Amino acid sequence: MGVPNIVDGDTKRCIGMELKKLFLKANNELENTNGRAKSRKISCKTCQKKLTVEEIRANSFVCPACGYYFPVRARRRILMLTDKRSFHEMDRELVSKNVLEFPEYEEKLQQAMEKSRENEGVICGVATIQGQRVCLFSMDSNFMMGSMGAVVGEKITRIFEYATVEHLPVLGITVSGGARMQEGMLSLMQMSKVSQAVKRHSKAGNLYVVLLTNPTTGGVDASFAMLGDITLAEPGARVGFAGPRVIEKSLNQALPKNFQMSERVLECGFIDAIVPRNQQKEYLGKILKLHARLGEEYRMEEDHVSTGK
Ligand SMILES: [Zn+2]
Repeated sequence: MGVPNIVDGDTKRCIGMELKKLFLKANNELENTNGRAKSRKISCKTCQKKLTVEEIRANSFVCPACGYYFPVRARRRILMLTDKRSFHEMDRELVSKNVLEFPEYEEKLQQAMEKSRENEGVICGVATIQGQRVCLFSMDSNFMMGSMGAVVGEKITRIFEYATVEHLPVLGITVSGGARMQEGMLSLMQMSKVSQAVKRHSKAGNLYVVLLTNPTTGGVDASFAMLGDITLAEPGARVGFAGPRVIEKSLNQALPKNFQMSERVLECGFIDAIVPRNQQKEYLGKILKLHARLGEEYRMEEDHVSTGK
C-alpha cells in the first residue's frame, strides 16, 4: 500500500535526512564583534560570493549579491527587531532534564548549550519595538534544531501567561524541527499546553503576532506557530508539518516545486504577509501601534460600560 508504517526504518531515516538538510544553523562567526572578526570573510551558501562579517551584518544578514537569507540566532533576532537595550529576558535559568533517561540526551544538551551559548532552544522576555511594549519569544535553530522540549513549552507558556496578566501583545519568532524526540510524549504535550495559553491570551483580547522563519516544521508548525492573529513569514522560509520527501513517499506523487515555501503557503491562505528582513522591525512596529491604540479604546469603552458613564 502507498501509506508507509509510521515507524518503518526507511521513513525514519528519510525524516532524519530531511531535517539535517533543512537545518542550516546560524554561523557563530557572524556573531563575533571584535575588529578582526568583522573583516573575516564568509562565503554565501547560494552564490558563493565572499563577504565580510561586517557586510553581512550591515545588510540584515542577507547576501547583498543574491538575496540569500543567512540563518540568524535567536538573540540576534531580538536585537534586530527590538529597540536598543529594551529587552529584559525572563526564565533564562530554566534547563532541561533527562526525565525519560533517554540515552545520550544529557551529552546532547551539554553540546547544544556550548554551541548555542544558550540554556535552551527559546529566549523569552519583554521589550519595546518602536516604543511599543511587547512580550516575545524567539527560538534558536542552534539548540538541537530549535526542537520543542518541556522547557521550551514551559517558557513560551509562561510568557503568554505574563502577557495575559499585563495586557501585552506577544510576538513569536519561530524556527523549529518540531517536537524533541528525547522527551517523547512530554514534548508532544507542549503543543496543547502552549495552545491553551495562546487561547487564554486571545480570549482576554490580546494580540499575538507570529514571524515564521526558515524552517518552521513539525509540532511547532502544528500548534502555536499557526495560532497567531497575524502571521508573517520571511521570504523563502519552509513552513510545513512533515518534510516534502516524506509526503511524496506517502502519497506516491510529485509535489509542486515551491511546496511548503512561505510564498506558496501565503497563496494557500495560511500566512498574511511575507516581510523582507530589513522591513520587519518597522512592519511589526506599525502592527503593534495600531493594535495598542485600538486596545486602549476598547478598554476605555469597557470602563464606560462598567461604571455606567
Ligand atoms: Zn549570495
